Amino acid sequence: MPSRYDLDPEALARALEPALDGEPPYRFRQLWDGLYRRLADPSELQELPRALRVRLADADPLRPALSLAAELEADAGATVKWLFALRDGAEVETVLMRYPNRATVCVSSQAGCAMGCTFCATGQGGFSRQLTTGEIVEQVVWAARVARDSGARLSNVVFMGMGEPLANYGPVVRALRRLHGALGLSARHLTVSTVGVVPGIHRLAAEGLPVKLALSLHAANDSLRSSLVPLNARWPLESLAAACAAYAGATGRRVSLEWALMDGVNDTPTALEELVAFARPLAAHVNLIPLNPTPGWPVLGSPPARVAGFAARLGAAGIATTVRQTRGVAIAAACGQLAMRSATPARAGRGGARGRGGHLSGQTGDIWNLASGSTGPSPRPSRTPSSSST
Ligand code: SAH
Ligand code: SF4
Repeated sequence: MPSRYDLDPEALARALEPALDGEPPYRFRQLWDGLYRRLADPSELQELPRALRVRLADADPLRPALSLAAELEADAGATVKWLFALRDGAEVETVLMRYPNRATVCVSSQAGCAMGCTFCATGQGGFSRQLTTGEIVEQVVWAARVARDSGARLSNVVFMGMGEPLANYGPVVRALRRLHGALGLSARHLTVSTVGVVPGIHRLAAEGLPVKLALSLHAANDSLRSSLVPLNARWPLESLAAACAAYAGATGRRVSLEWALMDGVNDTPTALEELVAFARPLAAHVNLIPLNPTPGWPVLGSPPARVAGFAARLGAAGIATTVRQTRGVAIAAACGQLAMRSATPARAGRGGARGRGGHLSGQTGDIWNLASGSTGPSPRPSRTPSSSST
């Protein structure tokens, strides 16, 4: 059963024929604009006659996909992470990062992930199911609405939450098109992060959608990378480099390389040399981030001095480099180790009792707030710490 943001306009109009029967055609346009331009719940569309609003409120194709299960804030409220329950009980997480005038949302493309990367909490938790287009788009709409209500415009979307976007290709590409076409986000501000699904990269290159591609590289020699990222055995570095070059050629957009610095694993002089050799021919930009330790893997993130040294040497080798750590532990966790970090039972009361066994760093002062089964975009993130047991 499709949800509110699943269907294209033609299909949604058809699905709503019973509810819209006898109404003039512009009513559907008002509804579509309400959903995508005004980020509104159909019940809020005052321009629609009351009786129609009531019919639409009962219409199955307009049911929301997400219901808020818990909320976490960090960085004095600038960062907010939501845990959403989907209609079948699967759970995904979404993170909104607010900057002075704009905001970025990090969305999930799958519930869980089947790729099994050793260092990733989502990978450690396994795969639950694919998300639909509507379940992806609704995460963005939710975040855009919260951002707007706090005076920031949602400008960027990154597919760096749970799941491997290119392993859920059709729904992800339809979501990208909808975000661009209906929500009006620039394709240049949409980023797909992949662990390296080579056929997916080639296919995406041919979509005529110049979205940014981030490759989660982490190691640039095949034996180390295969030990961290099992998929590397199937599509090793040579095929990845060729796919990245093809992507850049087709879209005019250079690929960026994600590198989570792991203590003693990929922060060595040899690892650095290998990274330079991989990045240079692609003229790729490197994003460094210290690994967030996860419960299922013993390695720690590189210490700050080594991160700084690694970044400096990359820069000296002529590789454009960014260190992503300004939003601290909470954000790094947000994008990549979502599910496992939901909460510890001790810190988060009921929200932690979901059997996830995750851990939540105390350093950031994060607080989970538990929502009481609300659905649809929330007016504002609630700040009541009532259900936190810190
Ligand atoms: N599956 C896609 C997108 C989701 S993961 C991918 O792998 O690219 C988003 C990013 O978080 C990836 O770059 C991933 O390597 C990174 N990541 C995963 N676990 C992490 C951890 N424990 N610490 C830091 N980054 C992590
Ligand atoms: Fe999946 Fe990405 Fe995590 Fe690997 S890093 S397990 S691909 S979410």
